[in-house]
Amino acid sequence: MKISKRLSNFAKACLMTGAGFISSQAAAQTISPAKLDALKTELMKEIDNQQKSTQEMVDMVFSFGELGFQEVETSKYLTGILQKNGFKIEQGIAGIPTAWTAKWGSGKPVIAIGSDIDCIPKASQKPGVAYHDPIIAGAPGHGEGHNAGEPLNITAVLALKKIMEREKIPGTIILWPGVAEEQLGSKAYYVREGYFKDVDACIFTHVGNNMSTSYGDGGGNGMVSVKFNFEGEAAHAAGAPWKGRSGLDAVELMNLGWNYHREHMETTQRSHYVIPDGGDQPNVVPSKASVWYYFRERSYPKIMKMYKDGVKIAEAAAKMTDTKMTYEVLGSAWPGHFNQPIAEALYENIKAVGLPEWSDNDQILAKALQKELGSSQEGLPMALSGLAKPAISLSAGGGGSDDIADISWNVPTVVLRFPSNIPGLPGHHWANAIAMATPIAHKGVTAGAKAEAMTLLDLFTDPEILKSAKNYFADVQTKEVKYTPLISETDKPAISLNKKIMEEFRPEMKKYYYNPAKYKTYLEQLGIKYPTVKKD
Ligand SMILES: [Zn+2]
Repeated sequence: MKISKRLSNFAKACLMTGAGFISSQAAAQTISPAKLDALKTELMKEIDNQQKSTQEMVDMVFSFGELGFQEVETSKYLTGILQKNGFKIEQGIAGIPTAWTAKWGSGKPVIAIGSDIDCIPKASQKPGVAYHDPIIAGAPGHGEGHNAGEPLNITAVLALKKIMEREKIPGTIILWPGVAEEQLGSKAYYVREGYFKDVDACIFTHVGNNMSTSYGDGGGNGMVSVKFNFEGEAAHAAGAPWKGRSGLDAVELMNLGWNYHREHMETTQRSHYVIPDGGDQPNVVPSKASVWYYFRERSYPKIMKMYKDGVKIAEAAAKMTDTKMTYEVLGSAWPGHFNQPIAEALYENIKAVGLPEWSDNDQILAKALQKELGSSQEGLPMALSGLAKPAISLSAGGGGSDDIADISWNVPTVVLRFPSNIPGLPGHHWANAIAMATPIAHKGVTAGAKAEAMTLLDLFTDPEILKSAKNYFADVQTKEVKYTPLISETDKPAISLNKKIMEEFRPEMKKYYYNPAKYKTYLEQLGIKYPTVKKD
């Protein structure tokens, strides 16, 4: 099996075009290709041997179902495992109580490995059941599959650590969590507080329905998340309405203004809002009200333009209603750009691992869910998708955001998508939770952990990859575009978000935390027959 790759295509292209970054005395690979192949084979075997603990971690985090900034149990559990395995933990980083780093090893290179850990409101769902059936109605749940990424990272690094120790391979591993990714709430703060200053590269992992990676501009949007607060004066809404000034009127006028403005915006934009506070009851003129916007666009200047337009419209609404307006940034993300040499190295390993072997039951669940949602009944993927190429232009795409982008503009970064979910789902939805504590998720995590661990081994043993990665970062990615944070020096992480929701649901959710001492799987604990599908 030939699974090592000496030089990335990017590096080769640079050599051919005479780009001077690789000197003739380029640092040699620290181990031979044959030895590297043998170590990779050993890594895969070791990760297969860890399948039981991988399943336990995936199921456990699924059962916690914690919303952004409230990932208390999740962080305690994950750092507990890492600490037991010799990682040094720093808790509460960047002023975020549920954020942490876990460090192991010493010296260069320093590779950071991350994944998100938060979940989705109202997405509680029984795993393995191919229709809407919440564990607790109205409770949060892993309707984005963020329960699987850190278990993947931990599986990968524990296998790798054994080999690095035995072979005396130098280098430092830093694990870190994407806290409140759904609010784009943490990663720009990690960057601002210097947590990536000495990092050489970052591998991030996110659930998908195939195993893939990409490089360049992925075509997604960056964004800034802003809450506008309006304050007026309360009054008896029937007895003396002329004495009142309504914050809710301001919210409605702001939304009206924004929705007219929408007609004149570029097609790549995405903007949406919710009203977290619309007053208390109809017979009291709402003295306070707020509206929370996500402003998304394809580049930093376009995002800032939207943000300023939003503020202008909010000011106008305040003027119309004689209310006082304040606003606060609750999160942000740059548009993503990922590193070509590392993506190419990762993709070689993805090809060597291949997709998991799906059982008939896995396919029955996937097709039944796709039928339930009116999607095409393609089942689970049988072939790898390719290495995704960059979006062609800034007018292409548009769509979602991930604050991993803020890290990707500071350190050469790639995102590994691993095959733990079912194609054709809406996203941010109870349906996206169904596979996430079943054999589909468990096998997808095992496959992803192999690809990640092998790529980490490449990065720790072949200095050429990191050298090309840094060159791509300096000479291609950041040649013309420079990172300017969307958050200011004084913005603070919005750590009280979701507090009330978790306080409401946690007591009931605790009853359903996974108990691996008693039950082999979470499916077994919940008494779910796998798969449970509607009868025709
Ligand atoms: Zn996500």
